[in-house]
Amino acid sequence: MPLEFRNLIIGYRDKSKLKEIAGPFDIEIPEKKLIAVIGKNGSGKTTLIKTIGQQLASLKGGVYLNEQSLLNISNNQRARLISFVYTTTLSSENMTVHELVALGRYPFLHWFSKPSKKDTDSIKEALTFTALDVLAKTKIHELSDGQKQRAFIARALAQETPYMVLDEPMSHLDHHHKAQLFSLMKKLVTEKNKTIVYTTHDIENAINHADYILALNEGESFFNTPKKLIEKGVFNRLFPKDRVYFDSTTNRFLYLDSKSK
Ligand code: ADP
Repeated sequence: MPLEFRNLIIGYRDKSKLKEIAGPFDIEIPEKKLIAVIGKNGSGKTTLIKTIGQQLASLKGGVYLNEQSLLNISNNQRARLISFVYTTTLSSENMTVHELVALGRYPFLHWFSKPSKKDTDSIKEALTFTALDVLAKTKIHELSDGQKQRAFIARALAQETPYMVLDEPMSHLDHHHKAQLFSLMKKLVTEKNKTIVYTTHDIENAINHADYILALNEGESFFNTPKKLIEKGVFNRLFPKDRVYFDSTTNRFLYLDSKSK
């Protein structure tokens, strides 16, 4: 069930004028892999996520799942295929972790119907997988950023979709919690067969942990494995050359001032 970007140009319509942000993309997202979308601020990462989520219409081309344009798939059908994890969802602050995760079952519930055994099992499993069972009764606003992030992932997990799309899941997390989140995402790929697309401006971590990277840079885009992108010198194109350079021996970005020392 491949997810594809076909001739996709993303951007905005400002009073009938088209403002292209990135593309055209012609990419088949490899299944059961961890895919990072990287680029500096303003490069179009969120615009791409909004386009996949159909909150924003593409300027050209489209997003296809299983040969079908997402435009022709109902919201409910889509919610059974792709789940989204956004960091800034404040409306859920007063819920318990369990209530939030239970929301992941909404594509499967009918109004006023009682949750089935399958629903309760999925919620329980999502809580266990993300090690949140002990916090099930805790309110979202009482959680640390790392726990909160896991709770949103658990909600997406309860949704049982083959694809998961996460917008900036690493922001606000310290190194320890980033490492924990990477290991969770990798476990989701290897043990639950998920295909995960996440956005980040933490390029070094993406190089070290993602299977594939989609790099956005001022209208250009590059999609490949981190190794191939390094070989092609892509990471040296992302920032002004007089300030930052990519050191391919250590896979790190260095500031030019530090190079001379
Ligand atoms: P990123 O997530 O990589 O930081 P965004 O996708 O948020 O980048 O933004 C990409 C570009 O689109 C930026 O130049 C931004 O100013 C522009 N942009 C964002 N939202 C809108 C909008 N609603 N209308 C027009 N332009 C927008």
